[in-house]
Amino acid sequence: MTDKEQMSLFDITPSEIPLVELPHAEGAAEALPAKKTARSSKNISPAISNTVPVSEQFASLDALREVACNCQKCPLAPTRTNVVVERGDRNAKIMIIGEAPGEQEDLSGLPFVGKSGQLLDKILESVGFDITKDVYVCNTVKCRPPNNRVPTPVETNTCKPYLLEQIRLIDPKIILLTGATSLKSILAEKLAITKVRGQWYEWEGRLVMPIFHPSYLLRNQSREQGSPKWLTWQDVKAIKAKYLELMGADSVVGDDEEF
Ligand code: SF4
Repeated sequence: MTDKEQMSLFDITPSEIPLVELPHAEGAAEALPAKKTARSSKNISPAISNTVPVSEQFASLDALREVACNCQKCPLAPTRTNVVVERGDRNAKIMIIGEAPGEQEDLSGLPFVGKSGQLLDKILESVGFDITKDVYVCNTVKCRPPNNRVPTPVETNTCKPYLLEQIRLIDPKIILLTGATSLKSILAEKLAITKVRGQWYEWEGRLVMPIFHPSYLLRNQSREQGSPKWLTWQDVKAIKAKYLELMGADSVVGDDEEF
């Protein structure tokens, strides 16, 4: 299958996508890879302390979920329908962090289930990831901001301990930051998503890559070289290559030069 044919998988229904067999999280390598892929080790940031005090840590994800679902700590609590904590496999080695729940997520209680989420699933499935086994998905804030506005710094910072605890308890090897809000929350305030997407960072002993938010891709449908969709295609191939490297499997990702 050529790169163009594979990229077109972004546009078809998940049930039509021929999955490439991948090793899943069980038995995954525990250490970060010594071997480098073509796009690894760029722009490595200094380690930043981002941990919750031991006395405030959760014993389990179920305990976290129970507390979060009753949380009233920030101004988003009164207007939410559901607290949106997670979906995917809690044993996954890839964690995807979005911005905040939208309308569909608020109604269902699950992150990334609207159009953006469907596109995210297609992107992941197009390179053979099994979205039920290979990824764990959550948001920077767990409650929907009114009218889907961007969460305020107060809301993001108030909710951050839940996110940090999700990271600690899931213990992913790869974290994907979709969009500017998760980028600001995890890496730094002053990084522009357009400048840093597709770059690997080391953060708290994990590999982190910022990628475009799928809602941005929905608004930019071009597949021309250099377009957001084309760039995301390069990113997801690099993510898959790194994942396979971590899992100790051979990469079957297409060659960028042939695109
Ligand atoms: S967004 Fe986070 S901090 Fe705010 S009420 Fe919801 S769970 Fe609590």
